[in-house]
Amino acid sequence: MRPGIGRPSSSKNTSLNATIRDQSGAGKVKVGEILSKDGYITSTQLKHALDLQKTNNERLGSILLKLGYIEENTIVNVLSRLYNYPVADLTKVAPDEQVLKILPYDIAKKYMTFPLSLKGEDLSITMAEPTDTALIENLQNEVKKTLQVSVSTEKDIIHAYRTHYKIKDDEYESYFRGKEEVEEDVPVTTVDDFGSLVSEAEGDVELKSFHEEENLKDEYLANDAPIIKLVNGILIKAINDGISDVHIEPFETAVQVRYRLDGALYKSMNLPATIKNALTSRIKILAGLDIAERRVPQDGRIKMSFGKRQDVDLRVSTLPIMHGESIVMRILDRGALSVDLTKLGFDKNIFEIIKRCISRPYGLLLVTGPTGSGKTTTLYSILNTLNKEDIKILTAEDPIEFNFRGINQVNVREKVGLTFAVALRAFLRQDPDVIMVGEIRDLETAEIAIKAATTGHLVFSTLHTNDSPSTISRMMDIGIPPYMLASSITMVLSQRLSRKLCNKCKVEVNYHDPKELQNMGFSEEEIPDLKILGPKGCPGCNQTGYKGRIGLYELMEVTEEVAKVINAGVPEDQLRKTAIQEGMMTLREAGLEKIRNGITSVEEILKNTTITKEALPAYLVSPDTEEYSDREMIIREGNTDTDFFKLIQGSLIVVKGGKKIAQIVQPGEYFGEIAAITGEPRTASILSNKRSIVKRFPGDKLEEVIEKYPDVAKHLFEVLGTRLHQADKNLVKLIAAKVKG
Ligand SMILES: [Zn+2]
Repeated sequence: MRPGIGRPSSSKNTSLNATIRDQSGAGKVKVGEILSKDGYITSTQLKHALDLQKTNNERLGSILLKLGYIEENTIVNVLSRLYNYPVADLTKVAPDEQVLKILPYDIAKKYMTFPLSLKGEDLSITMAEPTDTALIENLQNEVKKTLQVSVSTEKDIIHAYRTHYKIKDDEYESYFRGKEEVEEDVPVTTVDDFGSLVSEAEGDVELKSFHEEENLKDEYLANDAPIIKLVNGILIKAINDGISDVHIEPFETAVQVRYRLDGALYKSMNLPATIKNALTSRIKILAGLDIAERRVPQDGRIKMSFGKRQDVDLRVSTLPIMHGESIVMRILDRGALSVDLTKLGFDKNIFEIIKRCISRPYGLLLVTGPTGSGKTTTLYSILNTLNKEDIKILTAEDPIEFNFRGINQVNVREKVGLTFAVALRAFLRQDPDVIMVGEIRDLETAEIAIKAATTGHLVFSTLHTNDSPSTISRMMDIGIPPYMLASSITMVLSQRLSRKLCNKCKVEVNYHDPKELQNMGFSEEEIPDLKILGPKGCPGCNQTGYKGRIGLYELMEVTEEVAKVINAGVPEDQLRKTAIQEGMMTLREAGLEKIRNGITSVEEILKNTTITKEALPAYLVSPDTEEYSDREMIIREGNTDTDFFKLIQGSLIVVKGGKKIAQIVQPGEYFGEIAAITGEPRTASILSNKRSIVKRFPGDKLEEVIEKYPDVAKHLFEVLGTRLHQADKNLVKLIAAKVKG
């Protein structure tokens, strides 16, 4: 127990105060001041919380938590580490009836405290904010025991109320209802009637434009209530509707407002051209841009607080166009950005591999896809999972889209020479555990990232490539030798976002041609039973038929086998085949799965994914491997079976009429294909020489292979040609010998 807290007698009260004073530098120090003094919150944040406290009378720690200034366990961490308060683990205590009676619920609640145990006259308790000595004195007087004080999180204490005092659900939930009330203090006005607001703003502009100087006018008008309300209304509507971008585009006779939802643009309103300048000026003021400058593009940022979803960041960019300035605002909404790895829609298999790769202390993990494919969200979710007190995370981003507590984020600025490579090099001197580099675009960045990944750091980055195997080729193109890629990269995740069909209106469709479905990757057998859904449109989805998006993922884990082929520098399609053999599901396959499950439409998948050569049939991708022992027969002369084979390991003997006529020693060589081509009985027997491993291909598929897979066919014919040539040479030798003899 913390020494000094205790003794209800008046003489001991002095020492109680003295101890608190010794430890925190003041007679009666509240938790807020400690947090501010130790730099956990700013003095402005403290002031904000104290102001709120005056109106709602809540505990300060609780207010700070609800405002998002501190984390659930900040107070416990600070008090235990810096002020030596013992921490009580409430999941491990079970106070008896007597203890609960000494400190009943109504008193406990008043002090946000919970009793732990009683030893003689000493009552051990735990509190959420045990730093206010006056408060503790009051409590001592109420329970008439000497108090030994520990600290616990408010959440744990409330939980203990439910477990031990058996408080009702209503009462329990009332603790959390308070949270919403604090947030609702921030005023939010949603606009119901844009029409009348626009008229109001327009009327204002017309009235005043007679009297004001051109430049002054805009600034003045931009600060007018109707324009402010209109801009707020446009933004609030966007945020409430889950919009990602707002486009404000001036034309000769009107200003068009368009919203991007789930990746698709739709028109929201037409505003009169007369308010154009006031509208742009207002947004430029909010974004901290120069409102007098209308000839060059500008970039800015707006930070706004809206009700429950606090801290919405908007990235604003202006572009001078013919009839004014086009403004695009990207909403970087912390509330809407789900950074929960478990909620990204990974299937179980992929999720397990990701967990495995990020739990290693080193390695390069790449996430790839075009712009807008959700790469950032995936990386942020991974970082969020890794973000713990004992792990140092550094990121270099362009731009920083989401601000994490506890992560050191660097905004890359190429213009001033702060490039990804420069940031990354500096990172290595900062002793990080985890590094994220926004993007690998050049050799320098790639080299440092790989160096970091092979020297005990977990490194994340993105590339603009189409799929996982092509990412390896891109890195080779950049200039990284294959062996370095094989030893540093642990996984490549390629992804796309597809729009989800609206759950309220999706309907079964049957206008897809079976041949088309087969071409896109569905198997001939499954097509007749396939139930395909498509978009219809309803008020719930703005008549688009789609609502929300879902991730498609292609995860290539660099297994031993995959590393081997990367190391060998094989062509992309060969790497793809190996990755598929090792369990990779392609983007197209992932898409087909979403169609099969009625989550999205054929059109969405066709738009977002392509079919590649990886769609080889199973018998080519992973034919059966067979093992033979010495002198065991693989093919018997005279038999009419037609399967053909490829030698993987060992060697083989070709026997005709009981005589050995040839040997097959080259791994990768095909044999037995003649019967598959001619349909004639086997002309010779083939036996294993010692132990051998071969792969068996179905003979009845040979025609299909030759027709559809020229790569495989070419190899087959090469082997065949070589063997015929060899046989020809042997024949010539034999004849020559005969002639001589
Ligand atoms: Zn709908």
